[in-house]
Amino acid sequence: MSPRDPIERKGFASRFWEKKALTNLNPQEWEALCDGCGKCCLNKLEDGDTGEVALTRVACRMLDDENCRCSQYDIRHQFVPECIVLKPSNIDSHAYWMPQTCAYRLLWEGKPLFDWHPLISGTPQSVHDVGVSVQGWTVSEFETPEDEWEDHIIEEPV
Ligand code: SF4
Ligand code: SF4
Repeated sequence: MSPRDPIERKGFASRFWEKKALTNLNPQEWEALCDGCGKCCLNKLEDGDTGEVALTRVACRMLDDENCRCSQYDIRHQFVPECIVLKPSNIDSHAYWMPQTCAYRLLWEGKPLFDWHPLISGTPQSVHDVGVSVQGWTVSEFETPEDEWEDHIIEEPV
């Protein structure tokens, strides 16, 4: 049986993301685009010279890597004030560091969503099944000193 999808994805026009500009999505459509992978909650390393961004398996302290969600989403800014709230109005500034499989980044780059996206597959489980989510493979930022993060860089797109 498929797990319950914590994100509401029913009641939308068929393939709405192909018919509307990203900036014209309503808040419910915007939320439904998140595939629930959890990869935007991984710590990143950015090369100051080239601007290149690498994701690491070192997770934000608030990330639950079993369900791939923030454990304190509603009050997370009390603990992680720098956590970004991605919106149509700031996607231009943030798309470059988002994971390569992130639906917001894909659409921002003019690319299609993958077939494993829950809006297409009909189940959030497909994201875990193809290995795109962070389920079960992160390490704690409390136990991983920053000078070791380089040893934990992951290969994208997965
Ligand atoms: S990387 Fe993108 S699709 Fe994945 S959880 Fe973050 S916002 Fe959602
Ligand atoms: S505070 Fe929550 S939403 Fe923000 S990066 Fe950490 S786990 Fe992700």
